[in-house]
Amino acid sequence: MFQLPQRDLKKEDIIDILSIKSTEDMEALFREAYRIKEKYIGKIVYYRGLIEFSNICAKNCYYCGIRKDNPHKRYEMTDEEIQEAALFAYENRYGSIVLQSGEREDSVFIEKIIRNLNLIRQKTGGKLGITLCVGEQEEEVYQKFFEAGAHRYLLRIETSSQDFYKTLHPKDHLFERRLSCLKTLKRIGYQTGTGVMIGLPGQTLENLADDLLFFREMDIDMAGMGPYIEHEQTPLYELKNSLETKEERFQMGLKMIALLRIIMKDINIASTTALQTLDPIGREKGLLAGANILMPNITPQQYRGDYLLYQDKPCIGDTKEECKNCLSLRISGIGESIGYNEWGDSRHFYHKKIKH
Ligand code: SAH
Ligand code: SF4
Repeated sequence: MFQLPQRDLKKEDIIDILSIKSTEDMEALFREAYRIKEKYIGKIVYYRGLIEFSNICAKNCYYCGIRKDNPHKRYEMTDEEIQEAALFAYENRYGSIVLQSGEREDSVFIEKIIRNLNLIRQKTGGKLGITLCVGEQEEEVYQKFFEAGAHRYLLRIETSSQDFYKTLHPKDHLFERRLSCLKTLKRIGYQTGTGVMIGLPGQTLENLADDLLFFREMDIDMAGMGPYIEHEQTPLYELKNSLETKEERFQMGLKMIALLRIIMKDINIASTTALQTLDPIGREKGLLAGANILMPNITPQQYRGDYLLYQDKPCIGDTKEECKNCLSLRISGIGESIGYNEWGDSRHFYHKKIKH
């Protein structure tokens, strides 16, 4: 039966644990991670209302369904629509939101974000927590976003291996820049989150172990990781025959969450939508494996079908009210409560500050 080594996990330990296959051992691992989550965070789940405000993207990542070269319909929510969604989160006591979109660095886009950050701050008296997830930007732009009220930023490194990164992105998407953006975000004072995709074609257990060690080394405050899910209209789809099964990718996703919780006990870890895509109760399973954050989708229904980073995204036919009711039932179903009206900040971020 699985037993956690009584020492800081080394790369070999992590690879061994990622190799676990028996259901019994996996459940023991998840129980251990959940016990740690309960001890350091409590039986509480924090919400981030997810607003996917635009699928216009200037980049061409090989895995992503909204990459620039895909010919499908593009949208950008109006300021009014963004404000309405943010107010929905505020009025329903979600505590905070995530503004996510394709990546652009033009001034129209940047100004739109700053304008909306200011409006949200005014309308909610600064009470709604705001995370941004809008990709790589220049330092002064990150600084302006911070000053306008964003206090958390999610920028997934996608993989911590520079060589592997090159196989997933065109030549002009540099690993070095992504990494340097992460460092800049930390320096500015954001609670900084990163993450990787799990089960990418060509990815090894060693890569995944290195990813976890990278998170520890970077001393991140939050993580959002999820299984890679193929999308037909992307270059990476060509390699679909070399993929692990969806079930294996799902289980690997849970093992990564559990290990990260064991390694970084007080950070925020999201149970991502990609988990639910592969298993109808995937997000609940993510919470039971050590995650503590959920991101209910509050994008207006008419846009959801166009924000398809991957195929078979769940709930695209649901309204935000339906998502809210469904989620709260799912959470009470596993004996957890929702941290209503709370920002649910990363405890790690504050513990670090006290230590320094
Ligand atoms: N454009 C921004 C934010 C939106 S994309 C950025 O790239 O940072 C958010 C995340 O979606 C990406 O970081 C990536 O990890 C994930 N993603 C993209 N395509 C995916 C796929 N096919 N399967 C699973 N996750 C995917
Ligand atoms: Fe654009 Fe982000 Fe998709 Fe890359 S992952 S193509 S940056 S939306």
